[in-house]
Amino acid sequence: MDRSMHGRKDRLIRERRHDTYREREKWPEPTRCTECNAVFAAGRWSWTPPAKDAHKTVCPACRRTADRYPAATIQLAGAFFTEHREEIENLIRNVEALEKADHPLERIMTISDEDNHTVVTTTGIHVARRIGEALSRSYKGEYRLRYSDGEKNLRVYWER
Ligand SMILES: [Zn+2]
Repeated sequence: MDRSMHGRKDRLIRERRHDTYREREKWPEPTRCTECNAVFAAGRWSWTPPAKDAHKTVCPACRRTADRYPAATIQLAGAFFTEHREEIENLIRNVEALEKADHPLERIMTISDEDNHTVVTTTGIHVARRIGEALSRSYKGEYRLRYSDGEKNLRVYWER
C-alpha cells in the first residue's frame, strides 16, 4: 500500500471514531450508562438518578476511556511543576470534580509521567481548557492551547 492510500485509510478510521464518541447523538430518554451511571434525559447527560426502566448504553466518556482515546491532553512541565506537583494535582482534580458534577462527559482519564513532562488525558475538551485556565490563573507560567480537527481535539500546554 502506498503512503497516500494509507493516509486516506487513517482519515476514514478517524472519522468513524468520531461517530462513536458523538455527544449530541440522540439516545432514547432516559438512557443510563451501565459503566458510570450517568443519565441522558431532557437532551443532556447528568447524574440525576433515572427512572427504573431507563434504556442502557455506554456513554461517550466511558467509551473513550475504554478505548484509551482522549478528546484532549494537557502537558505539564517545568521545575515549579515538579516541586509543587501534589498541590497542582489537587487543583487539577478539584477543577475536574466541579466540571464533572454538571457535565458527566467531562472527566480525567489518566495522569501519567513521560520522559520530562506529565500528561493528563481527558474525555472532553472543556475540562482540559478549564484546567489550563486554572493553572494559568493560580500559578502564571506559560500556557498555550492548540485545537485541531475542527475543535474536536485540544492540546493544552502548561509549563513553569
Ligand atoms: Zn459512562
